[in-house]
Amino acid sequence: MSPVPSAPGDAPARKIIVTIDGPAGAGKSTIARHLARRFGLLNLETGAMYRAFALKALRSGLPLDQVSDLEQLAAETAIRLEPGEQENRVLLDDEDVTGLIRNQTVTDAASRVSIYPAIRAWMVRLQQQMGSGGGVVMEGRDIGTVVFPRAEVKIFLDAAPEVRGMRRFDQLGPEPAHQPDEVIRDLRIRDERDRNRADSPLKAAPDAILLDTTSLTLEQTLKAAEDIVAAHLAQLSAR
Ligand code: C5P
Repeated sequence: MSPVPSAPGDAPARKIIVTIDGPAGAGKSTIARHLARRFGLLNLETGAMYRAFALKALRSGLPLDQVSDLEQLAAETAIRLEPGEQENRVLLDDEDVTGLIRNQTVTDAASRVSIYPAIRAWMVRLQQQMGSGGGVVMEGRDIGTVVFPRAEVKIFLDAAPEVRGMRRFDQLGPEPAHQPDEVIRDLRIRDERDRNRADSPLKAAPDAILLDTTSLTLEQTLKAAEDIVAAHLAQLSAR
């Protein structure tokens, strides 16, 4: 029987897969990073993969509604994530694009290219390969429903759009390029697209644990997520 890990960096008690899904700005990355450290898991951010592909599509000048061209482009593209302490290093055809994929143009393009089934199928395959050894926390929109429907621990994170928008706004620094209402509007548009696309829409898996952080502090949220994983590991140890 393996012990429940108790300190950052400990080996995971089992090679579990933890999935975190939810809308933009719900705090998925912060929680994934925390759980990865706390339980010795690899943290894989799937949004960064859609962002990297979107960057390639933008650079190529292809219209983002030309799905067959995008498919062709995907066939010529290699995307890799290298988990790091703070965030994933994102490699697009071996180029480190980590610092180039968080701006508004790429964010919007990622939301658009991610509606296409062929692009999603390609991404899902890559993500399944990356997580196949277990011992990972993977975050995105469809991880608990499509990528790893049999994951041991699934968390669906949510918060009111205004709260998510203000949290994002606060992250923009002292001279934000956008007003709070613009940030909230952008989140709503992306949410709509994610929730209403035909292929793998954003929704909670039936066996996901819902965590609504609207009125929780960051510390409370991290503690709640940690308790969910710890409870699962304790159950495994007791078997
Ligand atoms: O999570 P992040 O905001 O970085 O994701 C960028 C975009 O990629 C999202 O707006 C969403 O449309 C898409 N995405 C997705 N499925 C995932 C992860 C991200 O459709 N698993």
